[in-house]
Amino acid sequence: MARTRTKDLAQDEVSTKRKADTLVETVKLAKSTAVDELDDDEALETPKSKKRTSKRVKVEENKVDEQLPIAKKRTSKKAKETATELADEDKNGTLESAEPKKRTAKKAKVKGAEIAPLEERSVGSKLRVGAHVSIAGGVHNAISNLLHIGANAFALFLKNQRKWDNPAMDPEHATLFMDGCKKHSIQPGDCCLPHGSYLVNLAHPDAERKKQAYKSFHDDLTRCHQLGIRLYNFHPGNCNATTRENGIKLIAENVNKAHRDPSTGQVVTVLETMASLGNTIGGTFLDLAEIIALVENKERIGVCLDTCHIFAAGYDLRTPDAYAATMKEFDDVIGLSYLKAFHINDSKAPFRSHRDLHARIGTGYLGLRSFHNIVNDERLHGLPMILETPIEVVGEDGKKKEDKTIWAREIKMLEKLVGMDVDCAEFQTLEKTLFDEGTSERERVGDQVERKKKKDATPKKSKRKKVEVNSDTESDE
Ligand SMILES: [Zn+2]
Ligand SMILES: [Zn+2]
Repeated sequence: MARTRTKDLAQDEVSTKRKADTLVETVKLAKSTAVDELDDDEALETPKSKKRTSKRVKVEENKVDEQLPIAKKRTSKKAKETATELADEDKNGTLESAEPKKRTAKKAKVKGAEIAPLEERSVGSKLRVGAHVSIAGGVHNAISNLLHIGANAFALFLKNQRKWDNPAMDPEHATLFMDGCKKHSIQPGDCCLPHGSYLVNLAHPDAERKKQAYKSFHDDLTRCHQLGIRLYNFHPGNCNATTRENGIKLIAENVNKAHRDPSTGQVVTVLETMASLGNTIGGTFLDLAEIIALVENKERIGVCLDTCHIFAAGYDLRTPDAYAATMKEFDDVIGLSYLKAFHINDSKAPFRSHRDLHARIGTGYLGLRSFHNIVNDERLHGLPMILETPIEVVGEDGKKKEDKTIWAREIKMLEKLVGMDVDCAEFQTLEKTLFDEGTSERERVGDQVERKKKKDATPKKSKRKKVEVNSDTESDE
């Protein structure tokens, strides 16, 4: 889909060498502590060499059951109410509505706030890098969570992203959020990019579904306005129930309606680029351009470019030339002035695979050079860049938990890539270390994609096979 275009961006003004060692050191350290988030079955599997040969058979046997251990785990987790769950739930925002739970969450958070940050926020960086943080216990907790990882930008869910409820935002939490921003010189208008609900599909033609989706969307926008947040990111939707053309029209109608309502202030609605094709809207730049064309208030519409998604959708970023061509296509089709933010994720799935599988920076098929290209593009400096990379690790007790040091390190690493020479020893070592770290996952998912391709190319076979191939859960974000 990415049309071939001439490239004109010269990317190599970079020469400043920076002190190297620390970064590579931290990555090494990371490698030793962080176990990649493999599925349970796989974590127990034999080392790589055996894996490749035995896997094809093994994967086929296990695939059907793969969801089971996870499901079980969730149930038992709920019973235990572990700390991890708290974080999970928070993203859901459910704690905001449940009174007794709220108190527990608050206590936990106060404790959390006392913990020294993993990294200090960088001062004077040309980038605004951060991550999608939790609001467990209330929206104000996003502040301590972003300080904890040294972020200069952040995303959050404004309420449970998997439920249709729109419980009112606690005014006390809202005040604490704004006070926290002031206290720490955080401008939520410039560096905060909330993420919309996963349920909302603004392209749905059915009257009831349309009403429900709009209500949630509109409610989120009013929250942004109340909190002083200027940008709001959402998935455009899908046209499962209508034509693409009509779906695009419906999205723009909903956006226009929300823009006209004064309770949404001047919040800018930001369309996210998507990985899939089929009925998903937003898998091509053209989809987004067509929505924008129908939006009346052009000041209040924009695009968030997800690096993993566009790569999976067929837009390359890996070399300076490929990167320049992709950005030129974005400019030609949509217009760079509409680019408001980034989701910064590497991809576990290969180019043009249309799979949404986020990887840690430098460990996926995009590789460190893609991100070097991005952070050294001065046109993008100052835009919020949000990490949605996987941070789940397996602790010493064998339980899965979140390791926030991964984000803290990735933020510092991206900031450091600005002005770094790709030929210097530091970059080369870093690139190789991260590439090696991701090898087994790249091979695993790469195999999966190849098998699916072959399967799709041959006439339909038995039902069993269908289940086998689609194993990984898509990232959703
Ligand atoms: Zn994603
Ligand atoms: Zn998303």
